Amino acid sequence: MNEALPTSTLGYDSWNQLAANIAFGAWGLGLLVVLLYLVRLVTISESKDKYDFINRYEIRVLWIASIILIVGACFFVNSNIIQLSNLWIFVYVFTTISMGMIVALIVQNLLKFYYPFFIEKRLKVLRYRPRVSPKTGKPMTLLSEEEEDVYLDEGMIAEENVFSVDYDVWKDEETGFIKIERYSGHLHALQCPECNYQTFKVVREEILKQPSSTEEGELLKHYQCGYCGYKAKKTVVLRQSSKAEATAATA
Ligand SMILES: [Zn+2]
Repeated sequence: MNEALPTSTLGYDSWNQLAANIAFGAWGLGLLVVLLYLVRLVTISESKDKYDFINRYEIRVLWIASIILIVGACFFVNSNIIQLSNLWIFVYVFTTISMGMIVALIVQNLLKFYYPFFIEKRLKVLRYRPRVSPKTGKPMTLLSEEEEDVYLDEGMIAEENVFSVDYDVWKDEETGFIKIERYSGHLHALQCPECNYQTFKVVREEILKQPSSTEEGELLKHYQCGYCGYKAKKTVVLRQSSKAEATAATA
């Protein structure tokens, strides 16, 4: 009896050591993932590139890092085993997995429904931060919806009308240098009027009336909230650009 005890605690010791090492390894890896993301982010100089990078990857990276950190925590809470039996193994494994999944679910919800508010603020700053002209090094001006049409080609205007795409046109007043940036409405959610989460997206669009050279057209946008399921429709006037008009006339 006295001899059996040290060998068995020794057995747990090596497990405890292994579990602690896996935990620290996982935490290190999770933090590394976030760190690499941040390093990549600060090395992007263009505001628009930064915008796309955050919009595309930030939530995904944080989610992956969270999973790795949670797995680490699951091992850490089981790195202090003193006594063990088949029943206790079952209890430990079961409680660890369920607690891990509950925490993961909470993190997932935070990232999905609360975090976008924080992202949104930063994206707005990035989108409207004055672009610097590569010709003069001076800030350019953002043209209004009416002014920008001259610089957009037919395809871009059609896209803006139908596909919830926004083009921002920046102009260097001194040299006439133009920079055009594309923003997609499908990738970007609005605030839901019902539940107030940043989860309200365009799901479908249909043209009710094609614009003609004499009349404005009409577009119906279907919105749906990814959180509460609230649906809304919005009609938008389709503008006919002078260029589109010209092709419509020749067609
Ligand atoms: Zn909602």
